Amino acid sequence: MTILTVDVVLERAIRGYDLSVEEGVVLLKETDSSAKAAIRATADKLRQQQSGNTITYVINRNINFTNICEQHCSFCAFRRDDGDAGAYWLNWTQILEKTTDGVRRGATEICMQGGLNLEAKINGKSLDYYLKLVETIKQEFPQLHLHAFSPQEVEFIARVDGISYADVIVALRDAGVGSMPGTAAEVLDDEVRRILCPEKINTATWLEIVSTAHKLGLPTTSTMLSGHIETPEQQIGHFAKLRSLQQTAIEREYPARITEFILLPFVGQEAPKPLRRRVGRDQPVLEDALVLTAVARIFLGKWIPNHQPSWVKLGLNGAKEALEWGCNDIGGTLMEEHITTMAGATGGTCMEVETLQSAIASLKRPYQQRDTLYRLVDS
Ligand code: SF4
Repeated sequence: MTILTVDVVLERAIRGYDLSVEEGVVLLKETDSSAKAAIRATADKLRQQQSGNTITYVINRNINFTNICEQHCSFCAFRRDDGDAGAYWLNWTQILEKTTDGVRRGATEICMQGGLNLEAKINGKSLDYYLKLVETIKQEFPQLHLHAFSPQEVEFIARVDGISYADVIVALRDAGVGSMPGTAAEVLDDEVRRILCPEKINTATWLEIVSTAHKLGLPTTSTMLSGHIETPEQQIGHFAKLRSLQQTAIEREYPARITEFILLPFVGQEAPKPLRRRVGRDQPVLEDALVLTAVARIFLGKWIPNHQPSWVKLGLNGAKEALEWGCNDIGGTLMEEHITTMAGATGGTCMEVETLQSAIASLKRPYQQRDTLYRLVDS
């Protein structure tokens, strides 16, 4: 019987085998610095094989249309009740103004997500409100890619209107949504979700909605909120579920798939006190995030080749380091980030294209603009 060591596991990864959960956990539990260096080198080598040397970026603009939300996730500093100080809900003119500003600054993508606002209805229908959001943007700017509405928002619309997830996804897709953010995944483990986001959809529902999107031709991203109460076993369990979701889309020849994986390390500074106290620190531990970034590449890269760090959570320097730990994309300009900044992140709310380009150039790697679906854009 082979004893599982970091060297044995890395060798198997280099030879193209899919790692087991047990093997992934061996990598995450390693504490020795030279073994961590070997994990980094393997992730970097696999990144080179699976997605090449060029680092991509996207010019996008975030629009978070409301922070009024029916739920109370224990990590969330963004949500408000209607009437609270700081509660907001953008009107159609404001949404169009923000989109126009994004287009003027070169955006190819609008990324739109919001709180779960029970008042957001037209003629008593939640879906009609969301369709109007899409139409407001697409009527004026049909060329823009709309990356919008998480699996949790899909469930919210379906629940409020009493319709199926497929009905919601088809209507949004036909109105002009081009892809779905794989957010609200947090950690795909119901024990963790009971503490982190007890009112959110459970693991099975998240997986069902994302798989339905793939079946109906809507690509998704994938994410993980890391570095709070979860264990290494739960982290690798999350990766295994994403891998299996992608394998299903490929084996069954669904028209759409997961386009990328984004690690979102937890920022607790302004988070509600109980979770903040339990986690015991305000900002992510960079080294932990980098090791997890590398293990994500090693575990998932064969199936999900694009990996992106979060400059909002790690700062630009942390994100730059992640490009040497398995990532091949530096993300987007965002132009207006609210959700993590309200949680106390110090990475900033906007990046200029030139700043992203010079961060990449400082690593002596070529850069290239891409669109949401990783097609290269002539800049
Ligand atoms: S994370 Fe999303 S669903 Fe949860 S409370 Fe915040 S806005 Fe609402």
